[in-house]
Amino acid sequence: MKEKYLLKRKYGIYDYISIPMKISPLCTVVLLLNNLIKYLRPAIEVLVFAGFIDTSIEIYQGKTTQNSIYIYIGLIMILIAYGYLNDGVLTYVRSKRDIKIKNKFKSAVVEKCSNLKYYHIENDNTWDLINRICKNPDERIIEGFNNINNSIGIVINVLSLLMIIMAHIWWMGGVILLVCIPLFKVAIKAGEENYSTNVESDNIMRRADYLDKVLMDRNGVEERNLFGFSETVQKWWINKYEIARLIRKKTQIRNYVRMKSGSIITMFIALFIIGMLLISVLEQKMSVGVFISLVSASLSLVQDMSWNLTNNIRGLTVNKEYLKDFTAFCKLEEQEDALVKKEVQQKVAFESLEFKNVSFAYPGTEEYILKDFSLTLKKGVHYAFVGKNGCGKTTLTKLICGLYDNYSGEIILNGKNIKEYKLGYLKALYSIIYQDFAKYQLPIIESILVCDTYREKSTLSKIDNILAELDMKEKIDKLPDGIDTWLGKLKEDGTDLSGGEWQKIAIARALFKDSPLYILDEPTAALDPIAEVKLYSLFAKISENKSTIFITHRLGAAKISDEIIVIGDGKVIESGTHDELMKYQGAYAKMFNEQRSWYL
Ligand code: ADP
Repeated sequence: MKEKYLLKRKYGIYDYISIPMKISPLCTVVLLLNNLIKYLRPAIEVLVFAGFIDTSIEIYQGKTTQNSIYIYIGLIMILIAYGYLNDGVLTYVRSKRDIKIKNKFKSAVVEKCSNLKYYHIENDNTWDLINRICKNPDERIIEGFNNINNSIGIVINVLSLLMIIMAHIWWMGGVILLVCIPLFKVAIKAGEENYSTNVESDNIMRRADYLDKVLMDRNGVEERNLFGFSETVQKWWINKYEIARLIRKKTQIRNYVRMKSGSIITMFIALFIIGMLLISVLEQKMSVGVFISLVSASLSLVQDMSWNLTNNIRGLTVNKEYLKDFTAFCKLEEQEDALVKKEVQQKVAFESLEFKNVSFAYPGTEEYILKDFSLTLKKGVHYAFVGKNGCGKTTLTKLICGLYDNYSGEIILNGKNIKEYKLGYLKALYSIIYQDFAKYQLPIIESILVCDTYREKSTLSKIDNILAELDMKEKIDKLPDGIDTWLGKLKEDGTDLSGGEWQKIAIARALFKDSPLYILDEPTAALDPIAEVKLYSLFAKISENKSTIFITHRLGAAKISDEIIVIGDGKVIESGTHDELMKYQGAYAKMFNEQRSWYL
């Protein structure tokens, strides 16, 4: 989908028409045509009403017969009927177009987001850009389209009315245009300011929203009570919120002053036009009918020129700035083959993984997390990566998964450089359970299947077996809807789980994927050390013939592994079984003795 709508090119204001045209051509044409008619209507009305008034006066003066008024009555009725019928048709066409844009364009943006190279997600600047683009992209396109459509319409409206006015007083059009040009300039400047203000305040609001979540989120209730940090966080939240509000308020006040000054100017233009028209009537160069309808048309013209058109120009400028962001977003690098097909998943096997003198620093940083790191992992072995927090354990998994490739040295998977594999292949090879694993508030079965939507008999029995091995089956069978019970509290009859049970669901999800190599990156951080050992032992038992990497800084869980890799200062500083390392009396033994009391 994204190949069609998200191209690596410069996007311009005309794309607000071309994108909807590609997605929903018929509706877009109808909306454009309708707009044309809508904005030509005031000029037609001027002519029809002028004709109606003048003919009425002529009938009153006995200069013409009653029959000549019927044509104008008919035209007025058509104009009224058009207004009524049009609203219904338009609502239908708009909603049809909106759904299509949501389905196609929003999906394309979401697809691009899921394909982005990982460092864009971790980089603050690109993450802010991604957030700005992904905030209702469909609505931005629709808003941009409406903006352009209205601007085109207003220009048509203005030109047609100007032509009628100029037909009677030729120089008047020029005067109106001259006075209005500075107003347009002011509107463009206001639009640019609006967008950059929004960018600035959105960044601050994103932080305020996070603090709001810390204050309000269900998950934080216990910590909020325990640490009583609500008041402080609330102060931070109000502070951020206030800064964002003040930034927006300043621009709003400036815009308001600009608008009001604009209104005063336009009021004088309107008075000037009426005066000039009146002179023409007195000089009998213009009929009364034309005068009355031209006065009302001129007032609406001035209103359009000064207020609607400038407002639209301001909106257009804001939307143009969005397209600059959109152009940058489309150019963000993507991971090839980020979305894997299931067939690929079934063919992969794990034999060995070797780090050869790997040195790595995160993009944009100077500090090397891995320094000349070398290590070989083999099939069927349970490894434990241990070391102090921040020593680079998770970073190793990110490199294994191909999320970063800006390292020196080599990572060799099954005898081949990892950079030669497609990301899809790597994804199929590993199952990772992260520390901050997702708690999907879905029915139990869906939160285990997640991306596999099929429900064959064999799938169900496979899930049943996994849940039984994880000691969860009995509990789930007792729930009112069994495996179809909703998790979490989003649904009234949903079931909330304990921390350990949520972990088991995450583990079940990974086991269901059935990959040859499992990586558990401290998903047990919320458990006490003894419960962690129990869960890791259970996992080791279930995945007996597989290769696993347990990442933990708590060494009780490491004890059950076949080989412990101790990481420090960007390298492997010790490796061996628990007994070997204890005998060696090095860093591992020291850490283990420090933690001994946790397991008593
Ligand atoms: P561990 O898993 O051993 O606790 P990590 O691998 O998560 O440690 O982190 C190793 C170091 O890399 C830490 O100092 C951390 O601050 C830094 N780090 C992690 N992610 C990033 C990132 N995206 N950008 C810059 N530095 C990072």
